[in-house]
Amino acid sequence: MPELPEVESLAHFLRERAVGRTILGVDVVAIQALKTFDPPVTALGGLTITGVARHGKFLDLDCDGLHLVMHLARAGWLRWRDDLSGAKPVRPGKGPLAARVRLAPDDEGLAPGFELTEAGTQKRLAIYITKNPDEVPGVAALGPDPLDESFTADALRRIIGGNRTQIKGLLRDQKVIAGIGNAYSDEVLHAARMSPFKVAATLTDAQIADLHEAIVTTLREAVERAHGLAAKDLKAEKKSGLRVHNRAGQLCDVCGDTIREVSFADSALQYCPTCQTAGKLLADRRLSRLLK
Ligand SMILES: [Zn+2]
Repeated sequence: MPELPEVESLAHFLRERAVGRTILGVDVVAIQALKTFDPPVTALGGLTITGVARHGKFLDLDCDGLHLVMHLARAGWLRWRDDLSGAKPVRPGKGPLAARVRLAPDDEGLAPGFELTEAGTQKRLAIYITKNPDEVPGVAALGPDPLDESFTADALRRIIGGNRTQIKGLLRDQKVIAGIGNAYSDEVLHAARMSPFKVAATLTDAQIADLHEAIVTTLREAVERAHGLAAKDLKAEKKSGLRVHNRAGQLCDVCGDTIREVSFADSALQYCPTCQTAGKLLADRRLSRLLK
């Protein structure tokens, strides 16, 4: 799933490629992805893209004041196309293509654009067309952005307050902090040397300061690594830059211990016991079932 660093890079990429261009049309293939009906999708035709913003994991294309807001969800992605003039018309079907944004041809006659795709059977990708992006429910509910200057250690301490949830879940909660998902919460907790199951309210001020530092550094470094990469290269970069996420069984490059996993119904977390839990293995339901 694209998280803050990848969406930030996609926004940067689109600022360079798409701003100033006129939209020829937007074809929505996966009808269930379109969450708004007024204004209609045809209203985007003929408008010029004037800016690109990111809100948490949402991508927001400002088209002369009308906004195309996109959430790529778990298996969604954005694919830039240098020339869509020869592309086949899109038909609703079972393929991964969810929507296609066609842009006006440039001086060389190439008509670029981009496609939103979503793999798998769980279709969660969401598209909104609105005059006010703050009216998109997921955007309206977002907590502070960790790359914003106002996100200080003190701000994090206030957010955590007496929160009794486990820190892993708290980091992923978009209403608490915007933009962090399953992958970067694993990475942040590894950098902060903290157990994912630690209850937020039990953190000392010093631990909150460490956690704040880990959040900001992990995300900044990921944004920097992804900076300037083409949209198609972002996925590979995200994977290669991760220290613990999806690396169960491999060795921790900080301490050499084996990275472990805890699995849940539809996701899993990874951690390093030596770095994060004083060597203790966290209970894994799937593993204990297998051992019975
Ligand atoms: Zn380690």
